[in-house]
Amino acid sequence: MATETELTHLRRCVQLATEALAAGDQPFGSVLVGADGTVLTEDRNRVGGGDHTQHPEFALARWAAAHLTPEERKAATVFTSSEHCTMCAAAHGWVGLGRISYASSSEQLMGWLGELGAPKPPLTILPVEQVVPHIVVEGPVPELAEEIRALFRRMLGAG
Ligand code: ZN
Repeated sequence: MATETELTHLRRCVQLATEALAAGDQPFGSVLVGADGTVLTEDRNRVGGGDHTQHPEFALARWAAAHLTPEERKAATVFTSSEHCTMCAAAHGWVGLGRISYASSSEQLMGWLGELGAPKPPLTILPVEQVVPHIVVEGPVPELAEEIRALFRRMLGAG
């Protein structure tokens, strides 16, 4: 169960995802929170220009590598609207970040995209625990699922 504070961070991720969609990108958003609960940085998806590596989780991993010590990274949490893709999970692991808390799982997302007839991603999408085995991973959060699903429906012109 997500706490109220965690829900606040996850709701901010969904808000960033909504902003991304409005800007012509894909609806994903993420927030990096330090061990003391401070929001360190946040980002949203930026693939609209054609670079499909511009995911927020990857951006946060790079930010963490540039700005945090290894201990600070390990103690930080990445909140994200949808579970890390395989690329971002790998970046998270290489940089040595800590806990991940996601609002919707990759399994949910693949199901929704499948229902909507979206093209399949060019990667094998694995649960984040299979890519980064030694971190705490929490999610999905059922109360945010419909809102996120609606963003993908909108992205695909289905509502
Ligand atoms: Zn990704």
